[in-house]
Amino acid sequence: MNRHIVVLGGGLSGLSSAFHLSRRYPEALITLVEKTHRLGGWVSSERVQVRDGSGHTANILVESGPRTLRPNAKSVLELIHLLGLKTSIITTPVTSSATKNRYLQIPETQGLITLPNTLTSVFSPPMRTMLLPHVLKEPVKRRNRPSGITDESVDSFMTRRFGPIFARTFGSALVHGIYAADSRQLSVRAAFPSLWAMEDRGWGSVVRGALLPDTASPRVDYDVGDIPNMMKNVSVYSFTDGIGTLTGALATRLQNQPNVEILCDTPISSLGVAENGLLEVHLANGQKVNPTHIVSALPLPVLNNLLSPTSSLPHLTANPSSSVVVLNLIFPQTQPRLHPAGFGYLIPRPSSGYTLDNPGILGTVFDSCALSAQDSDAGNFTKMTVMMGGPNPITPSHTDLDAVLKQLSVHLTAPDDFLKVLPDPIYTRTHHHVDCIPTPTPGHLERMEELKVTLAKGVWSGRLEVIGAGVRGVSLGDCVESGKRVGENWIS
Ligand SMILES: Cc1cc2nc3c(=O)[nH]c(=O)nc-3n(C[C@H](O)[C@H](O)[C@H](O)COP(=O)(O)OP(=O)(O)OC[C@H]3O[C@@H](n4cnc5c(N)ncnc54)[C@H](O)[C@@H]3O)c2cc1C
Repeated sequence: MNRHIVVLGGGLSGLSSAFHLSRRYPEALITLVEKTHRLGGWVSSERVQVRDGSGHTANILVESGPRTLRPNAKSVLELIHLLGLKTSIITTPVTSSATKNRYLQIPETQGLITLPNTLTSVFSPPMRTMLLPHVLKEPVKRRNRPSGITDESVDSFMTRRFGPIFARTFGSALVHGIYAADSRQLSVRAAFPSLWAMEDRGWGSVVRGALLPDTASPRVDYDVGDIPNMMKNVSVYSFTDGIGTLTGALATRLQNQPNVEILCDTPISSLGVAENGLLEVHLANGQKVNPTHIVSALPLPVLNNLLSPTSSLPHLTANPSSSVVVLNLIFPQTQPRLHPAGFGYLIPRPSSGYTLDNPGILGTVFDSCALSAQDSDAGNFTKMTVMMGGPNPITPSHTDLDAVLKQLSVHLTAPDDFLKVLPDPIYTRTHHHVDCIPTPTPGHLERMEELKVTLAKGVWSGRLEVIGAGVRGVSLGDCVESGKRVGENWIS
């Protein structure tokens, strides 16, 4: 029988799986089905023309979703090589101020504090008291993982090893920056498996484990050409026209593949296994498809709602997800500059917990500094992105620009150094992303193993694979990797 694979969802995970499947199974027909009119899911890069009061103009890139990639994701380097995107890459070197300077904004205080970027800066205030004692004490602290536990929250892990203040200040801020979630809910093994492994390697100490070599053998089956050479000494990277370059190139390549068909504006209304054993995908336009294999790259709760009762799967609704408000801002250039040189800042969980009292800012990216090569004639402008929501209750103040700008000026006002009042922005755009980042809670990895076992037998018998940000990691690299691995074990 000819293989017909239906890929559900045209975000990066779905695009990556359609691309790799079309290479792995050139004789198969691949149908990619996407609910909306566009491919890319949360990836969305756009260019805007701006003009300041003095008549300066610029063409500026605005990202409403992901904006940076890390060079360690080999699966993305492979896509860049195979899609010929090398000349579009722009990088942030490890020596740049955007890499070296990252900040924290401690709630209820004014201004930013610099995270240490050199050994000596760890010994300077305030890190000398905030960070150093906890890190120095950790290797001599007794092994304290409770026997029998197989997972815990990031907050519980960090509290165990580094103490509660460290866990709240650094752990919660890190989790805000990647998952827009509460570190007390997030699984350490799912989100930061290397921390768990370091604790194992270091006989109970993360710091000792970090100093010992990691002997796990990395996968090597990536066709990356000379791209890794371009990534030497690179901290993060993107493309001249933003992350949309990657999803756009994937979409164009798939559109030109004779064995791939793409159905946009086509919501899936249900799927399952019919009584005669055939797979069935029902589209909202009334069409029914009977493929030989299905790959779901949908958010897990969405997949759960589409499954027919006889084909249901476990654990698809076990995790919550975060909703985020993204505010893109472009200001006219000022003297002194609006913010210090650096990547941006993150805000830890307030000591009194999350409240309704402020606009709920999780952090702000200083885009002009981090990837300035994306914007033409941008020297007269400052671009920032404010991330809000997540575990902070989303309130009307998220759309109250004045309230957000007021809060932002408190963050950017270091005593005497920077502007006291922000100028009026010349461009603002607010995006409400509902349920955009899944929060894998403790036990997630075991639940996903059980899901895999269920998929391999019973009605599905290995004919459905479930991937996407909700399964094996939310980063762009994780999504591309999960698409690459799809169908590796299909034998018929
Ligand atoms: C604001 C934000 C910033 C981020 N920043 C970064 C970053 O800088 N770096 C990084 O590595 N990661 C970042 N991430 C994470 C990363 O962008 C996402 O995890 C990733 O894009 C998810 O891709 P996906 O394909 O798994 O899911 P999605 O993008 O959610 O794709 C799922 C697709 O399924 C479609 N769909 C839904 N229901 C149906 C249906 N019934 N029928 C058909 N189609 C349907 C949707 O329309 C969508 O296109 C960020 C995420 C967000 C939200």
